[in-house]
Amino acid sequence: MERITHWVGGTLWDGPTGDGRGRTVPVLDPATGRQRAELVMGDAAVVDHAVLAAAHAQREWGRSSLVTRTAVMFRLRQLLLDEVDTLARAISAEHGKTVEDAVGEIRRGCETVDFVCGLGAATKGEFTAEASTGVDVHQFRQPLGVVAGITPFNFPAMVPLWMHPVAIAAGNAFVLKPSERDPSASMLVADLYRKAGLPDGVFSVVHGDKEVVDAILDHPGIAAVSFVGSTPVARAVQQRGVAAGKRVQALGGANNHAVVLPDADVVFAAAQIASGAFGSAGERCMAVPVAVAVGAAADPLVQELARLASAVVVGPGDRPGVEMGPLITRASRDRVVGLVDEAVADGAQAVVDGRGLVVEGHEDGFFVGPTVLDRVGPAMRVYHEEVFGPVLAVVRVETFEEALALVNASPFGNGAAVFTASGEHARRFAHEVQAGMVGVNVPIPVPVAYYSFGGWKESLFGDHHAHGPEGLRFWTRQKVVTTRWPTQAPGAGQDPGVRASADLSFPHGRA
Ligand code: NAD
Repeated sequence: MERITHWVGGTLWDGPTGDGRGRTVPVLDPATGRQRAELVMGDAAVVDHAVLAAAHAQREWGRSSLVTRTAVMFRLRQLLLDEVDTLARAISAEHGKTVEDAVGEIRRGCETVDFVCGLGAATKGEFTAEASTGVDVHQFRQPLGVVAGITPFNFPAMVPLWMHPVAIAAGNAFVLKPSERDPSASMLVADLYRKAGLPDGVFSVVHGDKEVVDAILDHPGIAAVSFVGSTPVARAVQQRGVAAGKRVQALGGANNHAVVLPDADVVFAAAQIASGAFGSAGERCMAVPVAVAVGAAADPLVQELARLASAVVVGPGDRPGVEMGPLITRASRDRVVGLVDEAVADGAQAVVDGRGLVVEGHEDGFFVGPTVLDRVGPAMRVYHEEVFGPVLAVVRVETFEEALALVNASPFGNGAAVFTASGEHARRFAHEVQAGMVGVNVPIPVPVAYYSFGGWKESLFGDHHAHGPEGLRFWTRQKVVTTRWPTQAPGAGQDPGVRASADLSFPHGRA
């Protein structure tokens, strides 16, 4: 049985006792339900050890030149691309998504590395000459020190890649606490950083659950925490981290709506929505679990969605031709099936019903087939809870205004999309919708890495979005330097900006 343990100070580390007697949890293959590895869980002592190693490494790393840091990132980028297949297979085996889908997340995560390869341009400071007579002012940003990331199971490569390349390129040392469900991608990335020449201790991986998360949030040596996960945990993480004096951004859950107006190309919209609803078995924070069909769009939209959902090939993620894999755990599958049961009992119509799906040879896998529920009402749990499964709820409304009001009543605000041929409606939607990321004839879009990623309302606690320019601001702090060089050469005369006697009034600019 493979044993996965922590990566601290540039080496595998089994915890303070070093004898492997620490608590372990099984890592499962969701396509078979069988255990494929055991994971060593950390505690406060492991976090403390990682922070000490990180703090030691950060002293040098934080002073290293931009050339040194970007050279590591250029090498990391190439290694990620060279190893994409190995990484994707490791992700697929523990998460269940298809290998091709895993390749997609690695490539999207790699965009963040692309962004920080241009660190010099992205971190240029500002300079003002002669702010006062003989006085110049310049502003630049510095690393925070040791920082941490806590990440969810659904993007075991991409979400950590939103964080650590930016934090590390900015001069910090980074401690990652990945999801305990699919930890291997983080271990492979740790090895790629080593091969890329990153000094030992600058990137660490500590495995665990709430115990490790709390130890990170409480640790006085960690300056900032980026969290991505479900809303209740995001809220608690942000509150605890802020109470401990840290900078915290906590990205939470989502329930993204796609509105289809009657003037939309319905066949095109259905294809986009189906990919958003069923890709990665709906386990994406940017999935499309709700289609809001306006007026005459509804009947043709439901018909086309049903056709597409029925055609999806479901099976183990590493089998060629498979388009959708299993859910992450048995509990997750049972919860999703229960939500569909409840919705059908409350009057929703299961136009395509994936509840009974059995994949031959994988009878113990955590599979649910693509499901399309028509005539879903806002009071149903399948509508207002985050389902995180391959279930698309269709809500029928009569007008654009009704659709917009429905989207805006959601407590979540990660993403929203509109499908229409009307520039006027598209523009109104983009301006009036209460969400951080908006798609116009694009299903919920993950912004390219030179923008930043983040939702509104209960989809993000904190005031910075992730990666890109906002990420760089999150992982650094600003410094403003005001400079004067009075002339001191003998006989050179008095510098006009320097008074001979002390002036006790508050300094202000003199014209
Ligand atoms: P989760 O909240 O269960 O876990 C996220 C992380 O928190 C994991 O590392 C986990 O070990 C840890 N954790 C779990 N329970 C904890 C607790 N009680 N206290 C402290 N830490 C705890 O989320 P998940 O199931 O791994 O991931 C799916 C969720 O993540 C979905 O809600 C999804 O929408 C969300 N997500 C959001 C985004 C975004 O950008 N907004 C991106 C990806 C995933």
